[in-house]
Amino acid sequence: MKMFIGGQRADASDGKTHVVLNSATGVPLDTIPAATVSDIERAIDIAQEGKLRWAATPQYERSRILQRCADLIEERQEELATLLSTDMGKIIRESRPEIRCSAQIFRGFAEQANHLYGKTMPDYQYGSEKDLIFTTHQPLGVVACISPFNYPAELCSHKMASSLAAGNAVIVKPATDNPLVILALVELCLEAGVPGDVLQCVTGSGALIGDHLSKHPRIDAITLTGSTEVGLSVAKAAAGTLKRVFLELGGNDPFIVYEDADMDLAVEEAVRGRVQNAGQTCCAPKRFIVQNSVRAAFVESARARLQQVRRGSPLDENTDLGALISARAARGVEEQVQHTVAQGARLICGGHVFDNAYFEPTLLDDVTLRMDIARDMEVFGPVMPVIGFDTMQEAIDIANATCFGLQGGVMTRDNKKAFQTAAALACGGVCINASGNFRNVDQPFGGWKMSGLGREGISVTLKELTQEKSFILKGVLA
Ligand code: NAD
Repeated sequence: MKMFIGGQRADASDGKTHVVLNSATGVPLDTIPAATVSDIERAIDIAQEGKLRWAATPQYERSRILQRCADLIEERQEELATLLSTDMGKIIRESRPEIRCSAQIFRGFAEQANHLYGKTMPDYQYGSEKDLIFTTHQPLGVVACISPFNYPAELCSHKMASSLAAGNAVIVKPATDNPLVILALVELCLEAGVPGDVLQCVTGSGALIGDHLSKHPRIDAITLTGSTEVGLSVAKAAAGTLKRVFLELGGNDPFIVYEDADMDLAVEEAVRGRVQNAGQTCCAPKRFIVQNSVRAAFVESARARLQQVRRGSPLDENTDLGALISARAARGVEEQVQHTVAQGARLICGGHVFDNAYFEPTLLDDVTLRMDIARDMEVFGPVMPVIGFDTMQEAIDIANATCFGLQGGVMTRDNKKAFQTAAALACGGVCINASGNFRNVDQPFGGWKMSGLGREGISVTLKELTQEKSFILKGVLA
C-alpha cells in the first residue's frame, strides 16, 4: 500500500520501501513506502493549507463528514477486521470489536464537537461589572498522530477523530510493523470527504518520521501512544518548540486478589485480561499480587485455565491466543521470562516461543520485589508473574513499587477494602472486581508517573486539542 500525501497515494521520494509481514506466519504481505525527510516536509507544507481550510469549515460540516467516516467503518467492518487480523496476528473475535469501537470513536467526537462550548465569566473581580468576557475554542493547527501496533485502529481513531473534530489538520504516522489497517482507515476517511490536505499519512521509520515531526516548528501538537522510551524521546524533541504533547505510554499494571475474592472470577479475569491480544495490551494486568493464604489455589486454577487457552490461526473463530506482532517480539518475551527465572522466579508453565511469533501462556510464581518484572520491566506477552502478600498495606506498596501508573484491578467481596485499595493505587484508573484491562471510549484514559501525560477520551480530548481564547469586551455593559 502507498502512503497518502495531499490526497494522493504516494511512494517515498527515493522509492525505498519497507516489507510488511503477516505476523502469524512471517510471510510478506505487502510493502509500504519508507518516507524520507523531503516526503515529511511535503506533507507538513500541504498541512499548512489544510489547517486553514479545515478551521474555516463550519463545525456542523466537519462533524457530518466524520459521521460519514463512522458509517463507512461500520459498513466495511469485516474487511477491516480481516486486514487487522492478517497484518498483526490479533484474533478475529477481537478485531471486529476494535473496528466497531473505531466507528464509535469517530461518531462520539463528531457529536461532542458540535457542543464544545466556551465559558462566560461572572463579574466577580472588583471593577469588572461592565465587562463581558467569554471564551471560544480554536484549533491548534497541525497535529501529528503517532500510533502503536497493538490496537492500531482503535488508538489511531482516538487521535485522528479528536484532532479532526477539533478542527485541526492531521498527519498520521502508524506503527511500522502493521500500518495496513490505518492506511485503509485514512483512505476511507478521504472517501468520506475529509480533504486530502487535512488528513495525510506518512509511513516508515518511527525514529526518523516521529523525531522530525516532534521537532518541527510547524507541527503544533504531538499525540503519541507507545512505549515510555519513545514517549521520553518525543517529549525531549518537542520541548524545543514548546508544542503540546500528549503521551499514552507503557504500564506494568497490578491485579490485586484478596483472600475473600470470588476466586473463579479472579482467575477468569486474570487470564482473560492477560491473554487478550496475546498479552500486548498497555492496561493488561501484568503483576498478579495475590494474598498468600490463597496464592497456591490461585496459581493452580490459573495454570489449569491457561491450559484451556486455544492457540491457532488469528482468522479461526475458535482461537483464543493469536500471534505476537513479530518473531522478534516473541523472542524478546522469552528472554524476559528467562531473565525472571534467573532472578529466582519459579516457572509453572509455558515460557517458550512457538510457531514463529506465538508465545506460550506462561505462569511464574515466587516473584518478589527484587525482580525487574515486579517493578519496571513491562512484558508485552501472555505472561503472569504472581507475587504474594499478607496485608493490605503490603499489597498497595507492591502495586505502587513501579515507575508506571496506568490502571489496576482489585478483587474482593469487601467494598470498603476495594475502595480503600483503589484510592491508594497511584494510577489513572482502577477496576473493581475486574482486571484493569478495560477502556471505555468516553473515559479520561491515561497514566500517572511514566505511563503518560494527559488524558484521552471523548469526554476530554477535544478541549486538549484546541486553544481556549478569551474575548474581553471592555465596558460594553455600561
Ligand atoms: P513504540 O514506542 O515502539 O512505537 C510507537 C510509535 O512510535 C510507532 O508508530 C513507532 O513507529 C513510533 N516511534 C518509534 N520511535 C520513535 C521516535 N524516536 N520518535 C517518535 N516516534 C517514534 O510502541 P509499540 O511497540 O508500537 O507499542 C507498545 C507500547 O505502547 C507498550 O509500551 C504499551 O504499553 C504502549 N501502549 C500504551 C497505551 C496507552 O494508552 N497508555 C496503549 C497502547 C500501547
